[in-house]
Amino acid sequence: AWGKDLVKRVPYLDLVVGPGMLARVPEYLKQLETRKVPIVDVRDQDGIFTLPSDLVTSSGNHSAWVTVMEGCDNFCSYCIVPYVRGRERSRDGDDVINEVSSLVDQGVREITLLGQNVNSYKGSGGGFPGLLRRLHEIDGLYRIRFTTSHPKDMSDELIETIAECPKLCEYLHFPVQSGSSRILKKMNRGYTREDYIDRVRKMKELIPDVALSSDFIVGFPGETEVDHQYSVTLLEYVEYDNIF
Ligand code: SF4
Repeated sequence: AWGKDLVKRVPYLDLVVGPGMLARVPEYLKQLETRKVPIVDVRDQDGIFTLPSDLVTSSGNHSAWVTVMEGCDNFCSYCIVPYVRGRERSRDGDDVINEVSSLVDQGVREITLLGQNVNSYKGSGGGFPGLLRRLHEIDGLYRIRFTTSHPKDMSDELIETIAECPKLCEYLHFPVQSGSSRILKKMNRGYTREDYIDRVRKMKELIPDVALSSDFIVGFPGETEVDHQYSVTLLEYVEYDNIF
């Protein structure tokens, strides 16, 4: 409804595209060369999606960013993402492999896989660990990074995959937001302090040189000094390499 309203209210607007359809912008721009009527496409893509092959790019550098999923289903109480970026959808696994292979052919040696919640990726057999193992097989690709991982989706299988595949960097951004289970519940994060510590313990056990970074929210509504101290002690326990 917003899209149609916008073209009425802004007469010089030719194109309105929602975040789920951004990949189609080049196609729509081409259509607009001959078409006189505005184009409005604010549909959400569901499930598995592909990106047009002519969107595959190389920056000419040795590293590149590759989208593997978009959107989020988690609805953390403080976050706007699920409302503006839409529900979670994963990019087709073969599509990702083809893009990365093409980037490697162009000289890229390091990729960073992108997604709001990469570790809940579902676009290929074996989920995110399965995709990582397939990427690990690509000759000429030396380093694989990914961001961002949600603590509730950090499975044993994923940690084992990182430990077993040397091309996977031992650096993980692993946002906790708070060290207090009471505040985590208010945030609707889907894990407790104990769950998070359990995942960190597993990572430190299997990946000896693991480097961790995190996000913290300080002063969340209702947070007490006790809750804050839970964040401080968590921070001391994990010994992050970097925090936001
Ligand atoms: Fe926002 Fe991340 Fe929570 Fe999704 S998981 S709602 S993107 S903070």
